[in-house]
Amino acid sequence: MVGGEAVYGGVEAGGTKFVCCLGTGPDDIRAEVRFPTTTPEETLGRVVAFFREAAGRGAASAFREAGGSGAASAAAAEGARPAAVGVACFGPVDLDPASATYGHITTTPKPGWAGTDVAGVLRAALGVPVGFDTDVNGAALGEARWGAGQGMDPFVYVTVGTGIGGGAIVNGAPLHGLVHPEMGHVRVRHDRGLDPFPGGCPFHDDCLEGLASGPAMERRWGAPAQTLPAGHPAWELEASYLAELAAGLVCTLSPRRIVFGGGVMAGPGLFPMMRQRTRELLAGYVSSPAVTDRIDDYLVPPGLGERSGRLGALALAEAALAAG
Ligand code: ZN
Repeated sequence: MVGGEAVYGGVEAGGTKFVCCLGTGPDDIRAEVRFPTTTPEETLGRVVAFFREAAGRGAASAFREAGGSGAASAAAAEGARPAAVGVACFGPVDLDPASATYGHITTTPKPGWAGTDVAGVLRAALGVPVGFDTDVNGAALGEARWGAGQGMDPFVYVTVGTGIGGGAIVNGAPLHGLVHPEMGHVRVRHDRGLDPFPGGCPFHDDCLEGLASGPAMERRWGAPAQTLPAGHPAWELEASYLAELAAGLVCTLSPRRIVFGGGVMAGPGLFPMMRQRTRELLAGYVSSPAVTDRIDDYLVPPGLGERSGRLGALALAEAALAAG
């Protein structure tokens, strides 16, 4: 602790890269580092080393070494050992606190990572409470705490990139339930006359992820999604699939706002088409002006840009400390 105020560690644990940060929120990041995801031993070793070095040498020097920008806190110069660490982790993961494999990555096809006890390794090495959740729940929590989801409980964050996933914040905490929501794998209407692509999900073929993830778009159109120009039919089709999820969420969870993030959402014209199609699907039945009149302010991009996940990991750490 520094000056009586706890400092937290956040780990955005992705399948291709890890981002670790130390701080208390978006305006107080005292150190940050990123590195590629390699083996579990090497990658988690680098996470541990980052927090140990930050604690030992002071976060100011760690910040410079990491090549970050912005003001390092003078208060951190004495060293900043995180009071707790939060991990927003790629998965699937086990989130059942009663399970023997809580905090583990379960069945990922990523070589070497299936069965990795991410939370346990970090807790043992760092000796602090570790909060653990899915990557998308972490991003949802970050947006709810500091971004576009503030004051919008219940709130949903959807990411559309190499996969599709969604996290819901209900009463201030990520919704878990039976396992955790798998919003990307819901079934959507698939008109095979309009879209003959069979879908690419290894489990379901034409679930939402199978039809509308970045890799699905690339397979259907023969070119990476980010290269498809404005006016390409890909974007109207993509908007229609994502609108199925948005309308379904309005009807099931009644969120006060839904954020759509992830690389695919940068597609030209995608947001306006998705909003219009969502309103058409709801057909005036849900009478809130939030969706009938102000849908531009209802289906929105992340308020924290690309930082939702790592900042959400800080919020997970804070919650883990509060829970003891
Ligand atoms: Zn699926």
